[in-house]
Amino acid sequence: MIRQKLIAGNWKMHKTTTQAIQFANDFIAPGINQFKKTEVCVCVPFVHLHALENIFTQNDIKLGAQNVYFEQEGAFTGEISCGMLADAGVKYVIVGHSERRALFAETDDMINKKLRAAFNSALNPILCVGENLEQRGSGAAQETVGRQLEAALRDIGITGVQRLTVAYEPIWAIGTGRTAIPNQVREMCAFIRSKIEALYDGRAAAKTRCIYGGSVNPVTARDIVGNSDVDGALVGGASLKPDVFFNIVKAVNSQD
Ligand code: PEP
Repeated sequence: MIRQKLIAGNWKMHKTTTQAIQFANDFIAPGINQFKKTEVCVCVPFVHLHALENIFTQNDIKLGAQNVYFEQEGAFTGEISCGMLADAGVKYVIVGHSERRALFAETDDMINKKLRAAFNSALNPILCVGENLEQRGSGAAQETVGRQLEAALRDIGITGVQRLTVAYEPIWAIGTGRTAIPNQVREMCAFIRSKIEALYDGRAAAKTRCIYGGSVNPVTARDIVGNSDVDGALVGGASLKPDVFFNIVKAVNSQD
């Protein structure tokens, strides 16, 4: 099965709205919408959604969010629901990023609830999984990712999982400048797909996208995403600069 490649930026807590609009103009100007083979998404802070919706839609860039709460509405001060995000034009939402797990105490149970809420809405979740350095060093990387997947996907129906993107993001590669080597990424993406096949079936596994995140830049993007098991990239730091992010999309799009 041919899965369209996805390049998703994750701005984290960066940029004012003025800077966000400037980024959009600079990213689009050299012709970002010429790269038809690759789907492009930028996951921005909530406060920029409204300002970016039109310009992104007109240029076929998907609007993304970095987090969501699982309840529909109510007394949950500071939280934002799937319905609110969908209404704001959001297509993709990151769920279970390692920074949210580590800094904001997100548990597997919360991540599972967020995924269920996303699948009950129009949002397409990007589920982040990945091992830390110690787990990689002790040979427990697949076991860790397997456990995260099982917990996140508990009681998620097969129709949901076919809309899922899994982002393999080894914690030791995020924001460190240390990119995983293509073989490590290919192996883990193949493992993730085999795990989905075991939990669901081969058809669901064939539809699930598996992308890589961790210090991706225009040079590493080409090799990592060049493999047919790897369906794109989640890009943090390098998505903040329009020319660099443009070159990542260009590198991935120019592959056969
Ligand atoms: C991320 O935080 O999802 C990420 C991949 O960050 P970076 O590209 O900066 O390593």
